[in-house]
Amino acid sequence: MTSNTTKYIIVGAGLSGLTTAYMLTKLGETDFVILESRDRIGGRIFTDDGIDFGATWFHDHHQNVGGLLNELNIDKFYQYSKGKSVLVYSTMAPAHYFENDPNSPSAFRIAGGSTAMINSLAGHVGEERIKTGVTASEIVNDNKNEVTVVTDKGTYSAEKVIVTIPPRIATRINFSPELPKSLQKVMEDTHTWMSNAIKVGLTFKSPFWRNKNLSGTLIGQVGVVTELYDHSDVNDKTFSLMGFVNEGMRDVSAKERKKRILAHLQKYLGNEVLEYLTYEEKDWSQDKDTSCNKIKSIYMSPKYGNSKFEKKYFDGKLIFSGAETSPVYGGYMDGAIYSGLVAAKKILDN
Ligand SMILES: Cc1cc2nc3c(=O)[nH]c(=O)nc-3n(C[C@H](O)[C@H](O)[C@H](O)COP(=O)(O)OP(=O)(O)OC[C@H]3O[C@@H](n4cnc5c(N)ncnc54)[C@H](O)[C@@H]3O)c2cc1C
Repeated sequence: MTSNTTKYIIVGAGLSGLTTAYMLTKLGETDFVILESRDRIGGRIFTDDGIDFGATWFHDHHQNVGGLLNELNIDKFYQYSKGKSVLVYSTMAPAHYFENDPNSPSAFRIAGGSTAMINSLAGHVGEERIKTGVTASEIVNDNKNEVTVVTDKGTYSAEKVIVTIPPRIATRINFSPELPKSLQKVMEDTHTWMSNAIKVGLTFKSPFWRNKNLSGTLIGQVGVVTELYDHSDVNDKTFSLMGFVNEGMRDVSAKERKKRILAHLQKYLGNEVLEYLTYEEKDWSQDKDTSCNKIKSIYMSPKYGNSKFEKKYFDGKLIFSGAETSPVYGGYMDGAIYSGLVAAKKILDN
């Protein structure tokens, strides 16, 4: 087992951790390491085959996302919404249609997929500072000047550590000495935003729905797919549909779920659905670095950005960050960036 020393340690290479690392780098502070459990960076931002299986949309009021994209020189574009959208309010009733109000523009998407933002941040930070496949299991307040992070790949010591992993997942870490009981309770109670979501994405040779004046949007809590959207890329070179699967489908076999999803989409968008090039699902509840396995019900309280996360612990050497700790758009990408920026300031502040 190796032992490594840097000035700072960031646990988690999601949007929050990478934003902090980017800020530190910008300020000329490069003596840090990011420890990431997964074998990839990005956390709940994950674009595969052009499909955002994690975070996708943001709005004008998400100024931290807009600001960061500007700084990184990454374009945004409107969610495609031209044509008729389908409203499924009863599985027995015929399809109902509605049209998007052209005066209230759709949400924005990120050109190249949300992962474009992650890759750009990582590029500025430097791959050599990001250690993937490293899971933190213990954080020890050793002495006045040092804190140690014990991982499955050795120990890492630093003056300060920022924990950016979702608070509920962070309760798996053995903090020594123990964190205050009230903080442990808040961490345990803080639902990880979207950790229960199941997404489905399909790619096609052509946007057959557009040719029928359909937007690709399909909304309805009663069906197996609760939301679906056109997810073609910014240049209209690859054509896809992406959406959320009804959580009731979690306990159905993968084969049966796919059959039912395709049948649902076929019913409302047409037989061309069956001519997909690729079909993928992602159930975040099965992803140990985001969720706690099978979720049967969700208790969404307390709200995000609890003031306990603002405090420093371990004599100022331990800082919490991440979307769920943010008092600004907690749970969202905007909150992740906001908390990442605040954490960079906090860590540099003596
Ligand atoms: C399906 C889905 C859809 C979403 N849609 C949107 C959307 O449209 N718009 C929006 O604004 N937001 C959306 N979000 C939320 C958005 O993804 C998050 O707000 C944001 O990505 C959180 O970033 P983060 O860095 O705070 O946390 P995370 O991305 O969770 O990063 C934490 C990192 O810590 C790592 N980690 C965990 N445990 C350990 C450990 N023990 N040791 C080391 N590393 C560890 C994880 O692997 C992860 O990489 C969505 C999320 C999901 C899942």
